[in-house]
This record gives sequence, structure tokens and C-alpha cells, in this order.
Amino acid sequence: MKAAVFDGQDISIKEVPIPRLEDSQVLIQIKASGICGTDIAIAKGDLPTPTPIILGHEFAGEVIEVGKKINSNWEGKHVTSEINSNIDFSCYYCQRNIFSQCLSRKALGIDINGSFAEYIVVEPYMLHEIPRKISYKEATFIEPLAAAYQTFEMMPLADEDKIIAIYGLGKLGLLLAQVALVKGLDVIAVDGSDKKLSMAEKYGAKQLINRFEVENISDEIKGSTDNLGADIVVDTTGNPEALIDIVASCKTRGKIHIKSTHGLRTPINLTDIVVREITVYSSRCGPFDKAIEGLSSGDIKVKSLVSKMYDLEKIREAFAAYDEDPDFIKAVIII
Ligand SMILES: [Zn+2]
Repeated sequence: MKAAVFDGQDISIKEVPIPRLEDSQVLIQIKASGICGTDIAIAKGDLPTPTPIILGHEFAGEVIEVGKKINSNWEGKHVTSEINSNIDFSCYYCQRNIFSQCLSRKALGIDINGSFAEYIVVEPYMLHEIPRKISYKEATFIEPLAAAYQTFEMMPLADEDKIIAIYGLGKLGLLLAQVALVKGLDVIAVDGSDKKLSMAEKYGAKQLINRFEVENISDEIKGSTDNLGADIVVDTTGNPEALIDIVASCKTRGKIHIKSTHGLRTPINLTDIVVREITVYSSRCGPFDKAIEGLSSGDIKVKSLVSKMYDLEKIREAFAAYDEDPDFIKAVIII
């Protein structure tokens, strides 16, 4: 099969064997796979992985073969898959139903081969059927949308939580803005792209801040919140400067939520967090069922988040597009 293989330096299209189907796995023919910030961070060397590796974990496809030990009727179904494979169902976290933190887990496209390829094998507990009304292209948003929902699973909203400031309007930020609006929050959107800001405005964001047009983002946020700061501030940028500023934008006893996983370190102002009793949250993989319901119901709209589609052979162009075009949101690789 054709696959985009990262060798630690570069990504290139190679002919590799179709992965061997074990008795307890299913074989998926991949139809579409999105590029995530994590893929970009790995390709840039910011997030180390074993190599050579096939990157990619936001994908959808059709089950074309099931292993001998699988009874359920997955064959022919349109599916997407969770990222965490090799779950042992017995460790400390599994016993508490926190399978995404299983001590044995291996993440697709990070620890083991992922989805920038024609085929992938996964275990059936990772699978979610996609309703036929959701296209393969849209279904590549289920994994990141689940991560957006997980923000509020890990950080329950209190009655006084009314205003959320979202730093970064990439794919995750724009999904998160929609989820926050469905939850009734007022959204302050921060980005350097007027195009992305206008998308957030169309969804219903109340305040738009172009970071290149203001002297100080946190001053702008305080200016519209009685000088208090936002109740919740989320970072989706992974940009060290943004991570410093989110503390200043957060109200005393407010909530900060870190969603970016770019592998970078940052000098965040911990003293300010302590003195003003700010709670810091983080979250990653989330509930796929909620994401599928959000797409099915029309609460969450993703079609306009696809900046461009690429054939697998053009994947290097797709990776480069994120750096070249500040308005770029998401590339979907069609396979
Ligand atoms: Zn486990």
C-alpha cells in the first residue's frame, strides 16, 4: 500500500506492506485523514516519536475485513477510530474507566503507525460507526471535536462561568468556540487571521481580537469584562507568548485550560496563578459519541473548516500550507 512515512527528518510516500490483520482487529480502508497540530509538531521535530512512522490519527474509512475472533458486524461500516490502541483493560486507569490514560496505550500516528496510508488495523473497541449523513471528509473532525467536548468534561462549568476567551482559531479553536456557544457561553476569540476571526463571528463569538492589531490582548479582554478578565481562558496555540498572556487574561479564581500539545516549554507566570488562585486544567482525547451527535444534529459545523483537500501523494504540500498561509485551518488528505 501507499503510505506517507516520516523518517525523523522528512515525510515521503513509500510502498509498504498492508498491516497484518490480527484475529482481534479490523482492517480499515482509509478514505480521508486530517492533518493535526500534533502531526505538524512531530514533523518539525518538536514532539519526538519512534521512526520510521506513518503519522496521522484523524481519519475515517470503511471496514473491509474483520479478524477471526470478532463477532460483531463491522464489515462494510463507515467508521472513525479513537487514537488509543493496545488498551489492557486491567491497569489502574482502566479499572477506573479512564481508558485514554491506559498505562499500556499506544497512540496511532504517534507511538505506532497512523492513518496517512491506504489501510490501517485497529481494535474494535476503538471504532465508532459514522452515520451515512456524515461524509468521510466531515468525519475527520470527529476526533478533534471530541477533544473540544473533553474541555468541558474535565472542566465542569459553574453558574458564574459566562465568558470564555479562546486563544487560537485553528481547527481546534473554531470547534471549541462552537461547543462553548452551544453551552451558552459568551466567546471572546483571539487570533492573527481576520478570516478566522470572521468565522468565529459567524458562529456567534461576541468579541474578536486580532493579536496583530492590539498592543496587549489581556488589556482588551479586561476592557470588556469590567477589568476582571475572562471566567475561562483556553489556549489552543502552543505559542509560548500566548501561554504567558492567558494568565493575565484570566479573572482571579478563574479557569485556564491548556489544549495545545506542541511539545514546547514556556515560562508561564506561576506566581500570578497562585496569588490569584487560578485553576489550571488540561484535556485531550474526548467522547466520540458526543462529537458524532454534535455533527449529526447540526450543532457543530465543519465543512467550512476544510481549507483544502490533497491527494496522499501531495501530503508534503499539505503540511507546508499550514506555515505558508496564516488563514489555513485544516488540510484533509483524500486517500
Ligand atoms: Zn490500562
